[in-house]
Amino acid sequence: MIDLHTHTNHSDGSLSPEELLQTAARAGLQTIAITDHDTLSGYDEAAALPRSLDLIRGIELTTKYGSSTVHLLGYFFHGDPGDEFRVWLQRILTHRRERNSHLAERLQELGVDLTLEEVELVGKRMTGRPHFARVLIQKGYAGSYEEAFQRFLGERGAAFVHREAPALEEGIQRIRKAGGVPSIAHPVRLHVDDDEAFFVAMREEGLQAVEVFHSDHSPQLRAYYLSLAKRLDLAVSGGSDFHGAAKPHVLLGNVNLEPHWLEKLRGLNV
Ligand code: AMP
Ligand code: ZN
Ligand code: FE
Ligand code: FE
Repeated sequence: MIDLHTHTNHSDGSLSPEELLQTAARAGLQTIAITDHDTLSGYDEAAALPRSLDLIRGIELTTKYGSSTVHLLGYFFHGDPGDEFRVWLQRILTHRRERNSHLAERLQELGVDLTLEEVELVGKRMTGRPHFARVLIQKGYAGSYEEAFQRFLGERGAAFVHREAPALEEGIQRIRKAGGVPSIAHPVRLHVDDDEAFFVAMREEGLQAVEVFHSDHSPQLRAYYLSLAKRLDLAVSGGSDFHGAAKPHVLLGNVNLEPHWLEKLRGLNV
């Protein structure tokens, strides 16, 4: 079995890289890609461990497309993306930390008793608004996750702070320049008027693949994106988007990508 979309606790998954490898092997997987949000460090840690399965170096970038957010997968089949790409990722992480620090200040100004350090204890290396939400709930400032976003953290919340994020086009170009294969993650979450026009425009930017198979895609959607990919001559990727206990309904191997799709992806950019 092949699963090209998984997360470790280096982003928002619950398992360490080592636990993920063990869990995947136990689940009978032959190949997994680690695709943490905006970091390669979970993959790097896993790559140094002994293991019984094929491990693919991946990433899931959070990018902006107009006013919406688009997740962009990148697969580096043929070697490390290199320093330029890694330095760029560090910049993205720095922007996140700066945003978090401003967000904590805003909350304090609103009278909320909370420190950035407390939130970072929960979020560790990839602290984000979901961790702020958890602390706000713990301390009784919000009754639910939704309320925490509505009142404080969401775009219309009282403490909202904008975070710098790269444009989708830049993400595509950076992945290509680093030798990777870019693939639009879970396209069901796109907010575009015309899917075909969107994919044609992104293909012009260097997009090479689309995540046809994903836990959030019904059989109908899989068929729809598969025909779109074929029509536009885009390669096909797929994976469960496993997050461990952070998303308990999504299991490793929920999605089993057929080997010929992986071979096609591997054959790009060689
Ligand atoms: P961050 O990257 O730290 O800005 O956090 C983004 C994450 O917050 C997303 O992946 C969502 O899981 C969550 N999120 C963003 N907006 C909302 C919202 N309005 N309601 C609930 N969760 C949200
Ligand atoms: Zn995630
Ligand atoms: Fe995603
Ligand atoms: Fe994901």
